[in-house]
Amino acid sequence: LGGSITRALQQMSNATIIDEKVLNDCLNEITRALLQSDVQFKLVRDMQTNIKKIVNLDDLAAGHNKRKIIQQAVFNELCQILDPGKPAFTPKKGKTSVVMFVGLQGSGKTTTCTKYAFHHQKKGYKPALVCADTFRAGAFDQLKQNATKAKIPFYGSYTESDPVRIAVEGVERFKKENCDLIIVDTSGRHKQEVALFEEMRQVSEATKPDLVIFVMDSSIGQAAFDQAQAFKQSVPVGAVIVTKMDGHAKGGGALSAVAATKSPVIFIGTGEHMDEFEVFDVKPFVSRLLGMGDWSGFMDKIQEVVPMDQQPELLQKLSEGNFTLRIMYEQFQNILKMGPIGQVFSMLPGFSQELMPKGREKESQTKIKRYMTMMDSMTNEGNLFLKLTTKVITELDSSNPKLMNESRIMRIARGCGRPIRDVMEMLEEYKRLAKIWSKMKGLKIPKKGDMSAL
Ligand code: GDP
Ligand code: MG
Repeated sequence: LGGSITRALQQMSNATIIDEKVLNDCLNEITRALLQSDVQFKLVRDMQTNIKKIVNLDDLAAGHNKRKIIQQAVFNELCQILDPGKPAFTPKKGKTSVVMFVGLQGSGKTTTCTKYAFHHQKKGYKPALVCADTFRAGAFDQLKQNATKAKIPFYGSYTESDPVRIAVEGVERFKKENCDLIIVDTSGRHKQEVALFEEMRQVSEATKPDLVIFVMDSSIGQAAFDQAQAFKQSVPVGAVIVTKMDGHAKGGGALSAVAATKSPVIFIGTGEHMDEFEVFDVKPFVSRLLGMGDWSGFMDKIQEVVPMDQQPELLQKLSEGNFTLRIMYEQFQNILKMGPIGQVFSMLPGFSQELMPKGREKESQTKIKRYMTMMDSMTNEGNLFLKLTTKVITELDSSNPKLMNESRIMRIARGCGRPIRDVMEMLEEYKRLAKIWSKMKGLKIPKKGDMSAL
């Protein structure tokens, strides 16, 4: 997909005369690519119409960067579709909220319920899980297993067959136990479809959820709109979670789900494990959809933050999938050099929300300096010999996470006079960033002197 959009934009910017036809050809190519990415036909068509209104042929002809103008327009339109205009309900700590999960069987509800509970537990909530899926054999065991692993209280039954009754009992019990986030998992299948939606309606009426979350498998393709709409017609869906984003699907169905439910996507599932769960962020999602890498304007950011002469090398390394500790160190240096850290807030992927939360710039700066001190204690001379080559790799230049074993960690801690726990924290941070930046692997590297053309 990314390829065809890039190609379309490339062809367009190569054209000497930009007329209606050239623009149409380009938009048609983008349309095709978006359809392949499971964006609903109607949404794509509306977007195309809007873009034609926005993009001014004169601007395109006047030597502006044509690719950039169109890409930006497409990007903005898609972001617009993903923004239903009102945020989803967020549970408040210490005040009981009931959240009900709906979605077809196999979409990932039970897994996502636990991820959602776990995510909030880490933030200090007191979550609890209720299994109101009495249709599928083993449903309760699955939830029980997940809940036990995450140390989250759960409720369900092997004998009761009425989902409404279990849901109500579970919610009542956890209200008494002062849980502030009561999560109700439901069935996704029934003998008949109509019966499933009727069951959802009844569970919802009986438990009066503050939020109903529609869970959607990212690989369901064009079926997303109808599926989301069907649930919305039976229960008051107020948010969407898209699962299995670690797979091949680009997740264009998310746009349909938002359009059908008029609710925002709040999280995405990126794996089977409990912590493979991310807060949804519109821009990176759309970048991925467009095949622009995982971050909007990634190149722009690189250009803003990374000094000119370091850019080609950094891009080269990232395209090879090598995010080393040294790269992290150098990015820290760049960030500190840029002065008030607020300025660079959210500029580099992954360096924003967790490492440098808004409003806590001073602490972030201190933390980054502390990380750098520890990294200064890493060996800079070669001490790791690859067997087959004589190439020497230092600790900072290795992208092998296993390299940092206990004895190395202890040596680093001694060297910088910080507790082992701090060194481990820094290495965790490195792993987190490496995971995010590894998505840059395969990045197309611009030719020298062509950076501004991107
Ligand atoms: P439910 O029927 O809607 O409750 O779906 P489950 O939670 O039982 O999930 C169905 C399958 O999808 C299970 O094998 C899960 O491990 C898997 N699954 C759920 N979410 C994800 C995800 O984000 N990524 C991947 N790779 N698998 C997932
Ligand atoms: Mg289930």
